[in-house]
Amino acid sequence: MAKKLRTLIAANWKMHGDMSWVFKPADFAGLYHADSRKHLDVLICPPATLLGSMLDPEQTGVLLGGQDCHAETSGAHTGKISAEMLKDAGASYVIVGHSECRAAGDTDADVNAKAKAAARAGIIPIICVGETEAERNKGKAQAVVSAQIKASLPKLKDYVIAYEPVWAIGTGKTATPDDVDEMHNAIREQVGAKVRILYGGSVKPANAESLLALKNVNGALIGGAGLEMESLAEIAKAAPQP
Ligand code: PEP
Repeated sequence: MAKKLRTLIAANWKMHGDMSWVFKPADFAGLYHADSRKHLDVLICPPATLLGSMLDPEQTGVLLGGQDCHAETSGAHTGKISAEMLKDAGASYVIVGHSECRAAGDTDADVNAKAKAAARAGIIPIICVGETEAERNKGKAQAVVSAQIKASLPKLKDYVIAYEPVWAIGTGKTATPDDVDEMHNAIREQVGAKVRILYGGSVKPANAESLLALKNVNGALIGGAGLEMESLAEIAKAAPQP
Protein backbone atom coordinates (compact mmCIF):
# COMPACT_ATOMS: atom_id res chain seq x y z
CA MET A 1 0.00 0.00 0.00
CA ALA A 2 2.60 2.53 1.11
CA LYS A 3 4.78 1.98 -1.98
CA LYS A 4 1.91 3.09 -4.22
CA LEU A 5 2.59 6.62 -3.02
CA ARG A 6 4.60 8.78 -5.43
CA THR A 7 8.26 9.01 -4.50
CA LEU A 8 9.38 12.54 -3.61
CA ILE A 9 13.03 13.45 -4.10
CA ALA A 10 13.50 16.91 -2.56
CA ALA A 11 16.67 18.99 -2.66
CA ASN A 12 17.13 21.74 -0.08
CA TRP A 13 19.69 24.17 -1.41
CA LYS A 14 19.77 26.07 1.91
CA MET A 15 21.76 29.32 1.63
CA HIS A 16 23.56 28.31 -1.55
CA GLY A 17 23.12 29.63 -5.06
CA ASP A 18 22.99 32.79 -7.09
CA MET A 19 21.39 33.64 -10.43
CA SER A 20 23.89 31.43 -12.24
CA TRP A 21 22.22 28.45 -10.53
CA VAL A 22 18.87 29.11 -12.16
CA PHE A 23 18.06 26.08 -14.31
CA LYS A 24 18.69 25.84 -17.96
CA PRO A 25 16.78 23.06 -19.72
CA ALA A 26 19.91 20.85 -19.88
CA ASP A 27 20.26 20.97 -16.08
CA PHE A 28 17.11 19.08 -15.31
CA ALA A 29 17.08 16.75 -18.30
CA GLY A 30 18.54 13.91 -16.21
CA LEU A 31 16.29 14.33 -13.18
CA TYR A 32 13.59 12.19 -14.75
CA HIS A 33 14.40 9.10 -16.78
CA ALA A 34 12.35 6.74 -18.91
CA ASP A 35 8.79 7.06 -17.63
CA SER A 36 9.72 7.95 -14.05
CA ARG A 37 7.44 11.00 -14.08
CA LYS A 38 4.56 8.57 -13.61
CA HIS A 39 5.71 7.69 -10.09
CA LEU A 40 8.32 10.29 -9.11
CA ASP A 41 8.25 13.95 -8.07
CA VAL A 42 11.52 15.87 -8.06
CA LEU A 43 11.43 19.04 -5.97
CA ILE A 44 14.03 21.78 -5.66
CA CYS A 45 13.88 24.22 -2.74
CA PRO A 46 16.24 27.04 -3.75
CA PRO A 47 16.84 30.24 -1.80
CA ALA A 48 13.71 32.38 -2.07
CA THR A 49 15.65 34.94 -4.15
CA LEU A 50 15.84 32.41 -7.00
CA LEU A 51 12.37 30.95 -6.78
CA GLY A 52 10.67 33.33 -9.21
CA SER A 53 13.44 32.90 -11.80
CA MET A 54 13.43 29.09 -11.96
CA LEU A 55 11.84 27.44 -15.01
CA ASP A 56 8.12 26.85 -14.85
CA PRO A 57 7.35 23.49 -13.13
CA GLU A 58 4.46 23.02 -15.56
CA GLN A 59 6.97 22.83 -18.40
CA THR A 60 9.80 20.97 -16.69
CA GLY A 61 8.01 18.71 -14.22
CA VAL A 62 10.56 19.82 -11.62
CA LEU A 63 8.58 21.15 -8.67
CA LEU A 64 9.68 24.15 -6.62
CA GLY A 65 9.49 24.74 -2.89
CA GLY A 66 10.39 27.17 -0.15
CA GLN A 67 12.75 26.36 2.72
CA ASP A 68 10.64 27.95 5.48
CA CYS A 69 7.70 30.32 5.82
CA HIS A 70 6.12 32.68 8.33
CA ALA A 71 2.81 31.69 9.89
CA GLU A 72 1.06 34.90 8.85
CA THR A 73 -0.01 35.99 5.39
CA SER A 74 1.63 39.42 5.48
CA GLY A 75 2.66 42.04 8.01
CA ALA A 76 5.51 43.78 9.76
CA HIS A 77 7.91 40.81 9.87
CA THR A 78 11.19 42.03 8.48
CA GLY A 79 13.11 39.40 6.56
CA LYS A 80 10.30 36.84 6.62
CA ILE A 81 8.37 35.27 3.76
CA SER A 82 4.79 34.04 3.88
CA ALA A 83 3.52 30.81 2.39
CA GLU A 84 1.35 32.90 0.07
CA MET A 85 4.46 34.70 -1.22
CA LEU A 86 6.17 31.38 -1.86
CA LYS A 87 3.17 30.15 -3.78
CA ASP A 88 3.06 33.37 -5.78
CA ALA A 89 6.73 32.82 -6.73
CA GLY A 90 6.06 29.28 -8.01
CA ALA A 91 6.36 27.04 -4.92
CA SER A 92 4.05 24.10 -4.42
CA TYR A 93 5.81 22.83 -1.27
CA VAL A 94 7.53 24.36 1.74
CA ILE A 95 9.88 22.78 4.27
CA VAL A 96 8.92 23.60 7.86
CA GLY A 97 10.68 22.65 11.09
CA HIS A 98 14.04 21.85 9.51
CA SER A 99 16.44 21.08 12.35
CA GLU A 100 18.48 24.17 11.44
CA CYS A 101 15.34 26.29 11.99
CA ARG A 102 14.46 24.38 15.15
CA ALA A 103 18.02 24.97 16.42
CA ALA A 104 17.52 28.68 15.69
CA GLY A 105 14.41 28.75 17.88
CA ASP A 106 11.43 27.24 16.06
CA THR A 107 9.27 25.32 18.53
CA ASP A 108 6.81 22.57 17.71
CA ALA A 109 4.04 25.18 18.04
CA ASP A 110 5.80 27.42 15.50
CA VAL A 111 6.18 24.50 13.11
CA ASN A 112 2.51 23.63 13.58
CA ALA A 113 1.49 27.22 12.73
CA LYS A 114 3.77 27.27 9.67
CA ALA A 115 2.36 23.97 8.40
CA LYS A 116 -1.14 25.39 8.83
CA ALA A 117 -0.08 28.52 6.93
CA ALA A 118 1.20 26.39 4.06
CA ALA A 119 -2.14 24.63 3.77
CA ARG A 120 -3.93 27.99 3.93
CA ALA A 121 -1.82 29.16 0.98
CA GLY A 122 -2.47 25.97 -0.97
CA ILE A 123 1.03 24.52 -0.78
CA ILE A 124 2.15 21.27 0.82
CA PRO A 125 4.23 21.43 4.01
CA ILE A 126 7.15 19.05 4.47
CA ILE A 127 7.25 18.78 8.25
CA CYS A 128 10.71 17.84 9.53
CA VAL A 129 11.27 15.85 12.70
CA GLY A 130 14.26 14.01 14.13
CA GLU A 131 16.12 13.17 17.29
CA THR A 132 19.56 14.35 18.42
CA GLU A 133 22.41 11.91 18.90
CA ALA A 134 22.07 12.19 22.70
CA GLU A 135 18.36 11.34 22.49
CA ARG A 136 19.10 8.30 20.30
CA ASN A 137 21.85 7.12 22.64
CA LYS A 138 19.39 7.28 25.53
CA GLY A 139 16.95 5.08 23.58
CA LYS A 140 14.49 7.95 23.20
CA ALA A 141 14.53 8.41 19.42
CA GLN A 142 11.05 7.06 18.75
CA ALA A 143 9.46 8.86 21.68
CA VAL A 144 11.03 12.17 20.64
CA VAL A 145 9.96 11.86 17.02
CA SER A 146 6.47 10.76 17.92
CA ALA A 147 6.06 13.73 20.29
CA GLN A 148 7.39 16.13 17.66
CA ILE A 149 4.91 14.85 15.10
CA LYS A 150 2.05 15.11 17.55
CA ALA A 151 2.87 18.70 18.43
CA SER A 152 4.05 19.95 15.02
CA LEU A 153 1.24 18.55 12.92
CA PRO A 154 -2.02 20.44 12.61
CA LYS A 155 -5.08 18.71 11.18
CA LEU A 156 -4.18 18.67 7.49
CA LYS A 157 -5.31 16.81 4.40
CA ASP A 158 -2.04 16.91 2.50
CA TYR A 159 1.38 16.95 4.06
CA VAL A 160 4.72 15.17 4.00
CA ILE A 161 6.81 14.09 6.98
CA ALA A 162 10.61 14.18 6.70
CA TYR A 163 12.43 12.10 9.28
CA GLU A 164 15.85 13.65 9.62
CA PRO A 165 17.96 12.47 12.55
CA VAL A 166 19.78 15.66 13.56
CA TRP A 167 23.10 13.83 13.93
CA ALA A 168 22.95 12.64 10.31
CA ILE A 169 22.38 16.04 8.70
CA GLY A 170 25.42 17.36 6.88
CA THR A 171 27.71 15.05 8.82
CA GLY A 172 28.21 12.21 6.35
CA LYS A 173 26.75 9.84 9.00
CA THR A 174 23.66 8.04 7.74
CA ALA A 175 21.21 6.12 9.86
CA THR A 176 21.39 2.40 9.05
CA PRO A 177 18.62 1.00 6.87
CA ASP A 178 17.45 -0.97 9.93
CA ASP A 179 17.16 2.17 12.05
CA VAL A 180 15.40 4.04 9.25
CA ASP A 181 13.05 1.13 8.67
CA GLU A 182 12.15 0.95 12.35
CA MET A 183 11.52 4.68 12.63
CA HIS A 184 9.54 4.95 9.39
CA ASN A 185 7.36 2.00 10.38
CA ALA A 186 6.58 3.76 13.66
CA ILE A 187 5.82 7.04 11.86
CA ARG A 188 3.57 5.15 9.43
CA GLU A 189 1.55 3.84 12.38
CA GLN A 190 1.14 7.40 13.60
CA VAL A 191 0.23 9.19 10.34
CA GLY A 192 -1.55 6.50 8.32
CA ALA A 193 -1.13 5.03 4.86
CA LYS A 194 -1.60 8.11 2.67
CA VAL A 195 1.22 10.31 3.96
CA ARG A 196 4.62 10.31 2.28
CA ILE A 197 7.50 9.86 4.73
CA LEU A 198 10.91 11.05 3.53
CA TYR A 199 14.27 10.16 5.02
CA GLY A 200 16.91 12.89 5.25
CA GLY A 201 20.46 12.82 6.55
CA SER A 202 23.51 12.45 4.30
CA VAL A 203 21.58 10.77 1.48
CA LYS A 204 23.87 10.38 -1.54
CA PRO A 205 23.99 8.30 -4.72
CA ALA A 206 25.88 5.51 -2.90
CA ASN A 207 23.24 4.94 -0.22
CA ALA A 208 20.03 6.11 -1.93
CA GLU A 209 18.99 2.77 -3.35
CA SER A 210 19.08 0.86 -0.06
CA LEU A 211 17.19 3.63 1.76
CA LEU A 212 14.58 4.24 -0.94
CA ALA A 213 13.87 0.50 -1.17
CA LEU A 214 12.53 0.41 2.40
CA LYS A 215 8.80 -0.16 2.64
CA ASN A 216 7.84 3.06 4.37
CA VAL A 217 10.45 5.35 2.84
CA ASN A 218 8.65 7.39 0.19
CA GLY A 219 11.50 9.63 -0.82
CA ALA A 220 14.39 11.68 0.47
CA LEU A 221 15.14 15.19 1.65
CA ILE A 222 18.65 16.01 0.51
CA GLY A 223 21.05 18.77 1.45
CA GLY A 224 24.64 18.49 0.22
CA ALA A 225 24.08 15.94 -2.55
CA GLY A 226 21.20 18.03 -3.94
CA LEU A 227 23.47 20.93 -4.84
CA GLU A 228 24.86 19.04 -7.85
CA MET A 229 22.35 18.16 -10.54
CA GLU A 230 24.31 15.02 -11.41
CA SER A 231 24.18 13.52 -7.94
CA LEU A 232 20.55 14.57 -7.54
CA ALA A 233 19.78 12.78 -10.81
CA GLU A 234 21.58 9.65 -9.56
CA ILE A 235 19.48 9.68 -6.40
CA ALA A 236 16.29 10.20 -8.43
CA LYS A 237 17.27 7.19 -10.55
CA ALA A 238 17.41 5.06 -7.40
CA ALA A 239 13.68 5.63 -6.78
CA PRO A 240 12.04 2.21 -6.97
CA GLN A 241 9.47 1.41 -9.64
CA PRO A 242 6.05 1.03 -8.09
C1 PEP B 1 19.18 18.46 5.28
O1 PEP B 1 19.73 19.50 5.53
O2 PEP B 1 17.94 18.36 5.36
C2 PEP B 1 19.99 17.33 4.92
C3 PEP B 1 19.45 16.14 4.93
O3 PEP B 1 21.31 17.59 4.60
P1 PEP B 1 22.40 16.52 4.10
O4 PEP B 1 21.78 15.72 3.00
O5 PEP B 1 23.55 17.36 3.63
O6 PEP B 1 22.73 15.68 5.29
